[in-house]
Amino acid sequence: MRLKGKVALITGAGSGIGRATATLFAREGAHVLVNDVDAIGGEETVASIIKQGGEAAYLQADVTDPDAVASMAAEAIRRAGRVDVLFNNAGISGVGMLHEIEPDAWDRVMRVNVRGIYLPSKHLLPHMMARRSGVIINMSSCVAEIGLARRASYAASKGAVLALTKAMQVDYAPYDIRVNAILPGTILTPFVDRYLKTSYEDPDAAIASLKARQLSGELGRPEDVAQAALFLASDEARFMMGSPLYVDGGVVFGKNA
Ligand code: NAP
Repeated sequence: MRLKGKVALITGAGSGIGRATATLFAREGAHVLVNDVDAIGGEETVASIIKQGGEAAYLQADVTDPDAVASMAAEAIRRAGRVDVLFNNAGISGVGMLHEIEPDAWDRVMRVNVRGIYLPSKHLLPHMMARRSGVIINMSSCVAEIGLARRASYAASKGAVLALTKAMQVDYAPYDIRVNAILPGTILTPFVDRYLKTSYEDPDAAIASLKARQLSGELGRPEDVAQAALFLASDEARFMMGSPLYVDGGVVFGKNA
């Protein structure tokens, strides 16, 4: 019960890492507010948490839409009274070398992955500041640290998230708000499944090469990242500030050959 009595809002929690984190946070005693643009996925996460005896509610919003995010934040405060933990997890992938990417596709990746962190934070930070307490976790990626082929827009967005995390931490430390980032390696979620199917002629060969890239020899599980988010959300991480937390099977700091 490491989050007993805490209220946590997780964006993009209708699938993958967000869903696994919502499930773990609820098991650890949090009241979880499940955001996702996809109502079916979001409601499924909530139903599964409630079935396991946890507390959760679904809040629909596209995290890139200022009005929708303002309403979501207001609804979160109305329902739960406060948000102790905001996990800015929602994100999309972007594939291609820079010259291949059309402007609309570039903007979409930046909008979801960066603006999608700016907006929920903008609307919930004033409440955290007033209470002089709060935790924000921003979803970056190991591509913020290493060059990976054909990920120009995605790498730019996740690098921006890491820089934003450090800047936010400096501004909000005086309010006792901690802001950290998670940098996963390749985690087997619907996001990676989609990306493998749409980007490679032979998804099985692609998955083998992704596994080989990580020292673990295996892809990560959503639960691996959820455990890292739990640590950052809990009081045990009270001295973690503006830090990148790697959950990457050794991809950033190791080399296989
Ligand atoms: P996922 O399974 O696709 O889950 C992401 C969820 O976010 C989906 O339910 C998606 O809904 C939702 N979403 C997308 N755009 C949204 C928006 N504008 N507003 C609200 N919700 C939105 O992906 P995941 O693998 O769990 O990834 C979660 C985060 O981890 C992302 O930020 C991703 O970049 C990051 N990450 C993932 C990996 C990995 O290997 N999986 C590695 C590093 C970092 P729809 O399905 O309807 O779009």
